[in-house]
Amino acid sequence: MIELEEVDPHKFDAWNNMAANIGYVFWAAAVLIAIGYFLKLSTTNGNKNKYDFINRHEIRLLWIAAIVLVIGLCFYFNSGIEKFSPVLFFVRGFVTIAFGLIAALILQNLLKFYYPFLIEKRLKALRYKPRISPKTGKPMKLLSEEEEDAFLDEGMQAEENLFSVDYDVWKDEETGHIQIEKYSGHLHAIQCPECNYQTFKVVKEEITRNPTDTVEGEIVKHYLCGYCGYKAKKTVILRQQTKTEDVSTATA
Ligand SMILES: [Zn+2]
Repeated sequence: MIELEEVDPHKFDAWNNMAANIGYVFWAAAVLIAIGYFLKLSTTNGNKNKYDFINRHEIRLLWIAAIVLVIGLCFYFNSGIEKFSPVLFFVRGFVTIAFGLIAALILQNLLKFYYPFLIEKRLKALRYKPRISPKTGKPMKLLSEEEEDAFLDEGMQAEENLFSVDYDVWKDEETGHIQIEKYSGHLHAIQCPECNYQTFKVVKEEITRNPTDTVEGEIVKHYLCGYCGYKAKKTVILRQQTKTEDVSTATA
């Protein structure tokens, strides 16, 4: 009898079918995660809620979908096996892991450094699209920094100055109806002055001097770029009960 097992091309059919099917399942899961996210986003009410939802979840969920997609690719890549030996096993394993990591790294970089530009446009549109007054059904007006102070209480103003929080105040000029929205600088990155990526965020704030009746307080805000590592600090003067202003920008 001749041993045919060595050359039987169907010997690994069971594994190959399983690997391909696992690959398809992972791909389907990746697509479902992405669809699920955008479905949830599209059913989220209001521009502000959409804005927050995107900031909190979009990149993270797309990253999860990307990982699941790459795992599926790794399985699919190993679904056409005809020969087996310990050496081949290790070579395949090594190549699979290496390419899987490279693919994941590329996707991660795209999501971290390029994708935020796309998000930024959508976020801007969501934030500045005129709000509709529930009283009149007409668009409201976004007040300027100076105008809005009249509608922000002391706590809110202090928060704006201290914690990289921005309040947007929308006013219905006909009825005087006011709508206030809060935006956090910790969640939202701005453009890095060094590398121009949308990866510059406040990482720490510290009060370096408490304000008293006679002396102005001082807050230092530390910024860090998630891409190039560029750091900057901004010193902000804190006056008792009045609006503060930026006095200097120093880099470190
Ligand atoms: Zn940078």
